[in-house]
Amino acid sequence: MTETHCPYCSLQCGMRLQQKGRGALEVLPWDEFPVNEGGLCRKGWTAAGLRGSRERLTTPMVKDRGTGELRAAGWDEALDLVAARIRGLQDAHGKDAIGVFGGGGLTNEKAYQLGKFARVALGTSQIDYNGRWCMSSAASAGNQAFGVDRGLPFPLADVEQSDLVVLVGSNLAETMPPAARHLDRLRERGGRLVVIDPRLTSTAERADLFLQPVPGTDLALALGVLHLLDAQGAIDDDYVAARTTGWEDVRRSVAAWWPERVERVTGVSTAELRHLVDLLVEADRAMVLTARGAEQHAQGTATVLSWINVALALGLPGRPFSGYGCLTGQGNGQGGREHGQKADQLPGYRMIDDPAARDHVARVWGVDAASLPGKGRSAYELLDALGTPTGPKALLVLGSNIVVSAPRASHVTERLEALDLLVVCDIVMSETAALADVVLPVTQWAEERGTMTNLEGRVILREQAVAAPDGVRSDLDVIAGLAERLGSPVPFSTEPEEIFAELGRASAGGKADYAGITYDRIRDEKGVFWPCPTPGHPGTPRMFADSFPTPDGLARFLVQQFAGAAEQPDDAYPLHLTTGRVLAQYQSGAQTRRIKDLPDTGAFVELHPMLAARVGAHDGDPVVVRTRRGELKAPARVVTTIRPDTVFVPFHWVGANRLTNDALDPSSRMPEFKVCAAEVTT
Ligand code: SF4
Repeated sequence: MTETHCPYCSLQCGMRLQQKGRGALEVLPWDEFPVNEGGLCRKGWTAAGLRGSRERLTTPMVKDRGTGELRAAGWDEALDLVAARIRGLQDAHGKDAIGVFGGGGLTNEKAYQLGKFARVALGTSQIDYNGRWCMSSAASAGNQAFGVDRGLPFPLADVEQSDLVVLVGSNLAETMPPAARHLDRLRERGGRLVVIDPRLTSTAERADLFLQPVPGTDLALALGVLHLLDAQGAIDDDYVAARTTGWEDVRRSVAAWWPERVERVTGVSTAELRHLVDLLVEADRAMVLTARGAEQHAQGTATVLSWINVALALGLPGRPFSGYGCLTGQGNGQGGREHGQKADQLPGYRMIDDPAARDHVARVWGVDAASLPGKGRSAYELLDALGTPTGPKALLVLGSNIVVSAPRASHVTERLEALDLLVVCDIVMSETAALADVVLPVTQWAEERGTMTNLEGRVILREQAVAAPDGVRSDLDVIAGLAERLGSPVPFSTEPEEIFAELGRASAGGKADYAGITYDRIRDEKGVFWPCPTPGHPGTPRMFADSFPTPDGLARFLVQQFAGAAEQPDDAYPLHLTTGRVLAQYQSGAQTRRIKDLPDTGAFVELHPMLAARVGAHDGDPVVVRTRRGELKAPARVVTTIRPDTVFVPFHWVGANRLTNDALDPSSRMPEFKVCAAEVTT
């Protein structure tokens, strides 16, 4: 019996795995793991379904130059080929001719090795990852306001002890169902729940107050909330004076956001807005939690900062069972961005343009700091540049299915096709792997060890439960094998525990400090919260009680202006399109669509009966959604739970992201996945 964690979302639910013979695995509850207490969602219970699947890749494949088809190859042949092509492209075009694209589902060890591989073995600045599309706006906002980015600066179970939880753009009951128990216990204690979402989701059905704003207007709603809090004299003046800076500028900036103006912009009535403000004023303990609905916007960072302003004005961050937090999405969305696979960062959440950070990390790596490249392009900008005269000519992809998950996906697919070399490491032939020149079959969760950092900043350990299939290797083997062939100045370990110890040294003194965490401690303590700078340190489940990790210890109020979505409805595209998730699928669906016990419905289009009547569609009829970037034909689902001016498409299948907008947030470089202008026809 092996105690480990689910392969999917950021809750990283604890589970036990039992071998059933011939490599098959049975998933059993791990009741003692505190985050989910034995509960799993359908995805977790069926996670072992990919083991033994006929779709599992078990041999490297290279594209035959004659036929253009992928054919089986040996590992040495495939790695030799990749290394030779990389050398040739770098000789011809420079180090940045090679791009690296990582994932928020990679273990901390893989994310760390990938960042080191890019900077040391390849010498390229061109590395980023799909977490840029997950919660980068909240990360940017957290860094600006609090001086640090940790999704939840408190354990998730603290939700139960609060008086009020405001969820902005989260369908938690469907995306991470075991977490909903904490909301249910909150309400059993008499606490209140507010949900803000353009759709009446199963999470919203639990709410005491549900607000249904126009997509892309959460920022205006937050400005209106702060306006009313100030007008009612509800600001925590002592907290603001003692623990923050910038309040007077923010106060002036929200003066014009009176309720009637908020109603005109957001569609949320003045009565609903006042109800929300009354709930916030009444609550001694309150939490504001954002997720992708608020964050995946061209103004995503500004939106999160505005909700942080609300939390600071009420004196919530650092108060027990209160504060602001972000509900991260991908399994290692938190850890994946702490260890150096972001274009602008080195391990320990250090900035790559900070000379002291470069010196520290270079010492750990055993290289000269001057040899490390600088800041590269963000995820979408990297993909947008592929195959262009100044962009990378080759891309190495680990843990990401870009063809399904990138915004403006048809354009991104064209960029991938323009490459001289596309190398994809994956467990199945994903839509992205199918385009590759070289496909490398890698281990999946139960076949390897490694740490993940869940949405609470709790570092947990995935244990190996079963041997990998013959022919399959770890991503760590791929990185080490390529590094050796490329003549890396330093060797790359393939042993996860050894890499984790090095990661701890590299992160020491940084904001995400793992130096005191070991595999043994994680096992004994069922996870350790960072920062944990020394072996004797207890870890940090709750942050900000006394100060914020800013130079002066104070949190920042920061003025934000509402501009609206980058693309507004017009005569040609009169509707809002928003995208999201369904319970049975995870991210691009590359894994979950191949598990036969999970329903694979395909994409669908949710629309209100009034809109369905206008376009002449009935439930189940095929309808076409068009935006300026493409179109998607899928069955209609006619529901009263969505705004009449909005359509919803889940993004787990090819198609939804051919519609989405690639407008980027200026700070986080997050694309505006959550809203664009659209039209629907039959
Ligand atoms: Fe896995 Fe997330 Fe479901 Fe938990 S909630 S079982 S971590 S997918």
